This record gives sequence, structure tokens and C-alpha cells, in this order.
Amino acid sequence: MRYIEPHGHMVSRVTDDYIDMVTAGCQAVCEPAFWAGFDRSSADGFYDYFCQLTEHEPKRAAKFGLPHYTWLCINPKESENVALAQEVISLIPKFLDRPTVLGIGEIGLNKNSRNEMKVLEMHVDLAARQNQLILVHTPHLEDKLKGTRLIMDVLKADKRILPERCIIDHVEEHTVQMVLDQGFWAGMTLYPESKCTAARAVDMVEMYGNERIWMNSACDWGVSVPLAVPYAGLEMRRRGYSAETIDRLIYQNPAKFLGQSPKFKLPKS
Ligand SMILES: [Zn+2]
Repeated sequence: MRYIEPHGHMVSRVTDDYIDMVTAGCQAVCEPAFWAGFDRSSADGFYDYFCQLTEHEPKRAAKFGLPHYTWLCINPKESENVALAQEVISLIPKFLDRPTVLGIGEIGLNKNSRNEMKVLEMHVDLAARQNQLILVHTPHLEDKLKGTRLIMDVLKADKRILPERCIIDHVEEHTVQMVLDQGFWAGMTLYPESKCTAARAVDMVEMYGNERIWMNSACDWGVSVPLAVPYAGLEMRRRGYSAETIDRLIYQNPAKFLGQSPKFKLPKS
């Protein structure tokens, strides 16, 4: 089996996770900028984080032959402070030319607040001006449906944004269809507790097809499983899917979306 991990917060993971992922067939990992588990006190904290994502982490992954890519932003959880967000967003352009930066993400909403909306619009404008791909985080549980609608409205309102260049992540049964209907890509996050299990994800693929869908572990510093994507591949195998169908969902689909950035390259296999 070969696969791409399109959403993993590797700075929070140990080196053994890289070894396990490569052993399981991982061909590339992508790391969106994220909340550290605590609020950073200044824009300097984000500057250092962006250096970690673009300099240090690719080197750590390269020790195991794994290409590491990243996405930059101030995440929705730290977007309440609009002045701080403005300062952080002004740092991003100087990082966008770095060879492993694929776009702006994971942006979106957390509590669907007015300030989060403002910061989301600022990110979307930056992505449009710099012709960047967009990776979107959708809120948890009861805020998800409303938040997903609000985010799609913001993206649709900006005529410079092409939906096929945006992935809306953490979709669930009640949001996947509307995301696909509007022309966006949909990401299914495989979490042992919240979000979605492998069985639920494969059920969704059976209902909504495997076009413009990817699966990711979103592994981070919390309870999460770095090998969740190959485990979902095993669940598909158990249900009798062909090797080609599994490969399409966990390797070819993410390669197609990410390949819209000329920087994204896969090892020859
Ligand atoms: Zn994430």
C-alpha cells in the first residue's frame, strides 16, 4: 500500500511516528499550521513556528526519505485577537516562496465568531492575491454545519477563488454533500474519538463516491493516530475494495489536489 498523509501536525509527533508512516507506505506528508495547544503570546511565536515548519521539520522528515510540505496561517483558535492576526498574516508572504509551502491553511472557523470571520476573510484575500491553494478547518460538533456554510459563503463571495483549489477538511456525514456540491474538495479526518472513524469514512465514500475526497489523520499533540489513513485502507480491503480503488482514494486523490501546486512532487514509485 502507498499513501499520502495530507494533514499531519508532525511537529507534535515523535520520530518513531515518521518511521511507522514510511514503513506503512507514506510517500509524502503535509503539515498545515495549527494551534499549539496554548495561545502564542506574540507574532514572534508564529515567526518561529513558520521557520520550524519550513526549515526544521522538512529536514527531520527527510532523514526517513519522506517529503514534507506545509501550509501557513494563524489558525482559527487564535483568531479572536484581530490585531495579532493582522501582524501574523503580514509575516506570511515572505515565507510563501519557500520550496515546501503549498498554500494558506488550515484557516476557517472555530466558534463562528465575528472576529474569526474577519480573519478568515483576510486569509482568503491573501490566498487570492498570491494565487495560493487553500486548506480549511471546519468547527467541531454542533458548530460544524453552520461554520461550514459560513466558510463556503466567504470563499464563494470572492470571485478570485476557484473551489477546486480549496479543500474543506473535517467533513462529516451532514456536511460532505454540500461541500462536494459546491465544487470544493472534501477532507475526512480519521480520529479515534471525535470526528470520524475509518468505518464511517468508508461508509461516506460508499454513499458520496470517491471524487474530490481525501482522508487524513490530522495527528497532533492530542489523542490521534498517525497511521489512521493506512488503517482506513485496510478497512477498505476488508470490505473487498480493489487495490486500485484504495490507491485512488489514499494516494492518487491527494496527489491530484496537491499537484495543483507546482511545488508538490512525489518520489518516483
Ligand atoms: Zn489540523
